[in-house]
Amino acid sequence: MQRIPEPFRIKMVEPIKVTTREDREKFLLEAGYNPFLIDSEDVYIDLLTDSGTGAMSANQWAALMVGDEAYAGSRSFVKLVESVRTLLRYEHVIPVHQGRGAEQILFPVMVERKRAAQPVFISNYHFDTTAAHVELSGAEAINVLTPEANDTQAWYDFKGNFDLQALRAVIDARGADNVVGIIVTVTCNSAGGQPVSMGNIRAVSELARANGITVVLDAARFAENAWFIKQREPGYADTPIGDVIREMFGYADVFTMSAKKDPMVNMGGLCCFKEDEELFRAAQVRCVPMEGFITYGGLSGRDMEALNIGLWECADEDHLAYRIGQVAYLGERLRAGGVPIQYPTGGHAVFVDAGKMLPHIAPDEFPAQALANELYLEGGVRGVEIGSLLLGRDPRTGKQKPSPLELLRLTIPRRVYTNDHMDYIADCLLAIRQRTGAIRGLQFVYEPPVLRHFLARLEPR
Ligand SMILES: *Cc1c(COP(=O)(O)O)cnc(C)c1O
Repeated sequence: MQRIPEPFRIKMVEPIKVTTREDREKFLLEAGYNPFLIDSEDVYIDLLTDSGTGAMSANQWAALMVGDEAYAGSRSFVKLVESVRTLLRYEHVIPVHQGRGAEQILFPVMVERKRAAQPVFISNYHFDTTAAHVELSGAEAINVLTPEANDTQAWYDFKGNFDLQALRAVIDARGADNVVGIIVTVTCNSAGGQPVSMGNIRAVSELARANGITVVLDAARFAENAWFIKQREPGYADTPIGDVIREMFGYADVFTMSAKKDPMVNMGGLCCFKEDEELFRAAQVRCVPMEGFITYGGLSGRDMEALNIGLWECADEDHLAYRIGQVAYLGERLRAGGVPIQYPTGGHAVFVDAGKMLPHIAPDEFPAQALANELYLEGGVRGVEIGSLLLGRDPRTGKQKPSPLELLRLTIPRRVYTNDHMDYIADCLLAIRQRTGAIRGLQFVYEPPVLRHFLARLEPR
């Protein structure tokens, strides 16, 4: 597999501490065998998330100095609006502090306007904060992801697609008057950063229009999705990426964006409206008490400057070829070495199939957490468990919910680690593969009642 060299040179570096295996054994023990509780100081390569962890460019850093910190009508806001209009063709712009800020000002006003008896949102897959805000607004969140997404080993170009038949069935069963919105998540984070095809987005949009339903694009990884469309969907190979992006956004009415992902800012987000002025006004009214005045929405002027530039930089084709290529390269090295991964790799992470790699560890002994710990011990690399530990117990029965997969997510921050780092991560996992039989499952020492994965303390069985 080809290594695509970094399309940047490094102007400033952040030294990271190199630890010994002895150090790491001590740190892991102190952290209760839970990588969430390890200090980042003691991590060599941190693959916990791609959210807010990207490296800003020289241009973004330079722009911080020209931020206009005016409370109202900031020059930095005006620039940001111009960029959104030019790049994405959305007229009305509200900055927000991060993606969930957009969700909390948008969903309640959508529900209010629809006046549905039993309000629901339908998505290919609601991201977890998205589902939480749907529910906080009094609606139900239903996912209709394509069944191809469940087969980790079979190539399918667009594992983030909606199952259109299921979408139609839910609209019919619930009644179009109850469907407040259809949320198109690009790329589909919860399905492993898998892309949604243009044809699928178009079909969803047509169905929504025919039924009077608002389409919301959850656009945290819009540029990565556009790149996959350009690479894989017939008819788009020669289309400039900007046109692919504008076509995608054209099929929705509103978009929410966590700018901590593709646009590579440490904090920021957007809530924008193509032409629905009524909804825009209503969201603005909610923005003031929840996020801040409508021309800053929880961001400082300098944040808006960095976001303004990040929007363009993430949509650069050389950046995307390198970015998606780096994730694919790590995935291919693992596959070649016999480490089972979710295939093909998506935009922002490689998912190792820990259930397959450690078949001797039962789901309720958390194979992916055991693998995460082993990877930390081996090389100071911190990944995150996406499996039974994360899923938790059924609140009614108290029993472990059955997880379809036990995955270790290796989330790659943007422009932060080099291809040499990718080789290092792969080498660590290949070394572990030689001694999987010696890896033991885990049991709780302390199990928090809610969101247990963050604070749980464990020990090897
Ligand atoms: C991260 C994310 C969000 C939430 O954004 P935050 O910035 O973390 O609040 C919403 N949707 C998707 C698809 C995301 O990846």
